[in-house]
Amino acid sequence: MTSQKNHTGGCQCGAVRFRVTTDLGSASICHCRMCQKAFGGFFGPLVSVKDGGIEWTRGEPDHFASSNFVRRGFCKNCGTPLTFEHGADGVEIAIGAFDQPDTIIPTSQLAHDAAVPYFDELHQLRQRDISDGAANKGSGEKLVSYQHPDYDTQNWPPSPSKEKP
Ligand SMILES: [Zn+2]
Repeated sequence: MTSQKNHTGGCQCGAVRFRVTTDLGSASICHCRMCQKAFGGFFGPLVSVKDGGIEWTRGEPDHFASSNFVRRGFCKNCGTPLTFEHGADGVEIAIGAFDQPDTIIPTSQLAHDAAVPYFDELHQLRQRDISDGAANKGSGEKLVSYQHPDYDTQNWPPSPSKEKP
């Protein structure tokens, strides 16, 4: 159970930002095929929000109805998955979209029978430094992030003359 109020977060590009206005409920990861697809990952990390207490402080998500019971919110500009919504009060938020996801600790996993078969071995993978990544190879150009920072901003995106090439 996570009860700290005023959790904030948003999508990668910063077009959509949110603030949680009530307590957070239980946090979990879901291995079902729909969550795998919606997140483009091995599982969906979600935390419930009590009484639908989420305020959109910049923009709002678009939605895809993944079934007759559930719609999933995402940023139409950058594609970041943001919500899992089942009814007016049944809102869950993607844990990785929070500004401080490390404070929201999953306590259960759903649909483990649908997990990728290597899931339980992932923590044993060989560790590599991020500088080994392909994105930094070749050009010698310094990486410039266009990702929104992990805090609320007054103006976004910043002035192109200052922040973008
Ligand atoms: Zn976005």
